[in-house]
Amino acid sequence: MRAVDIIIKKRDRQELNREEIAFFVAGITRGDIPDYQVAAWAMAVMLNGMSERETTDLTLAMAHSGEVLDLSGVVEIAVDKHSTGGVGDKTTLVVEPLVAACGLPVGKMSGRGLGFSGGTLDKMESIPGYRTDLSREEFLRQLREQGLVLTGQSGDLAPADGKLYALRDVTGTVPSMPLIASSIMSKKIAAGAQAIVLDVKVGAGAFMETVEEARELAQRMVAIGRLSGREVVALLSDMNQPLGHAVGNALEVREAIDTLHNGGPEDFREHCLVVASHMLVLGKKAADLNQARRVAEQALADGSAWKKFRTLVMTQGGDVDYIDHPERLPQAPVIMQVDAPQSGWVAHVNARVVGETTVMLGAGRQKKGEPVDHSVGVVVHKKVGDRVEQGQPLFTVHAKDEASAADAAGRILNAYKWSSEPCDALPLFYDVIS
Ligand code: URA
Repeated sequence: MRAVDIIIKKRDRQELNREEIAFFVAGITRGDIPDYQVAAWAMAVMLNGMSERETTDLTLAMAHSGEVLDLSGVVEIAVDKHSTGGVGDKTTLVVEPLVAACGLPVGKMSGRGLGFSGGTLDKMESIPGYRTDLSREEFLRQLREQGLVLTGQSGDLAPADGKLYALRDVTGTVPSMPLIASSIMSKKIAAGAQAIVLDVKVGAGAFMETVEEARELAQRMVAIGRLSGREVVALLSDMNQPLGHAVGNALEVREAIDTLHNGGPEDFREHCLVVASHMLVLGKKAADLNQARRVAEQALADGSAWKKFRTLVMTQGGDVDYIDHPERLPQAPVIMQVDAPQSGWVAHVNARVVGETTVMLGAGRQKKGEPVDHSVGVVVHKKVGDRVEQGQPLFTVHAKDEASAADAAGRILNAYKWSSEPCDALPLFYDVIS
């Protein structure tokens, strides 16, 4: 077999068979196929697409390009969740301890911030001492003993995806539906997932800006699940405005802690309860979504979800004093409250602008490998549908100095759109695909 023939076949809109895909992925993994051929192939896929069967073969080949965790001896059903990335999306911090408290063990490998969307590892590292580099053995032991792990992805997980993604990033081939779907699903399968809840974000602050695009991506991932023997439920959720109020690492940890104490912003709490309910049903800890929700609400109300989070932090080396007293978490030196410049109804709070501004404040990375500032970010007090009077607090910027606070304040003000008529609040979810 020759790589060039596989590129030509895809260029000519033909379907690749399993052996051809396996050959190509093995070549990417070993480094036998040069970058220019991988890039040419990625562009052919980008332009000509892939069938469901090809996408599944690509997913499984990438999942098996490195180590595949086998959790069957550790948990009854390995249930995972994945968000396609958003602004203020701290769902994992609440949902994982919540479902663990309901008797569903979860071991999750999360990522760092990407572009303007935040990353779970960066958020958890706001807690001094918290380790995100557990070894495979530590991961398995903690999952067995505590029923809850939240760490980084091991280097040998789906290495073909890592190499392909790096090339896609610089060849304009990131937005290919089959390549995105197989990239996400290969990592989940390699991490041992048997059932997956996908939180596919839609809107200004998401990869997929329209419900139609998000639905197509979700359907592709559900199809990969069906063809590879994994149960997959995909939720299409709103990302036109930030989720909850806080955007920025330590600020989001504080909001997650409030939520685990049975408080927190209403939209964020609701989002977490819905995601958790689907996980509990997939993990057979509840007969249906109604029962799952009751159990999850109980775990928030009786403090068991919070206790699980506390145990997680302690087990992974974090100093629990910082979460018992969240005011001790990193605090920015400059805190600037910005009041509403006019009265009216909030019609839009552009999540992408909020996310990009937060990155500029230092909460995310402009370049790969840069350190992040855990203390900085933005808290939006008023969201779409809210009635606001001129002079009421609109948002607060947490910054390292006055100049960056003032710059961020101007940008966030521009993220707001106003209406003189009442506006509806945005829906939290647009669809569920299973
Ligand atoms: N997230 C991934 O893991 N892969 C993609 O291709 C896009 C988003």
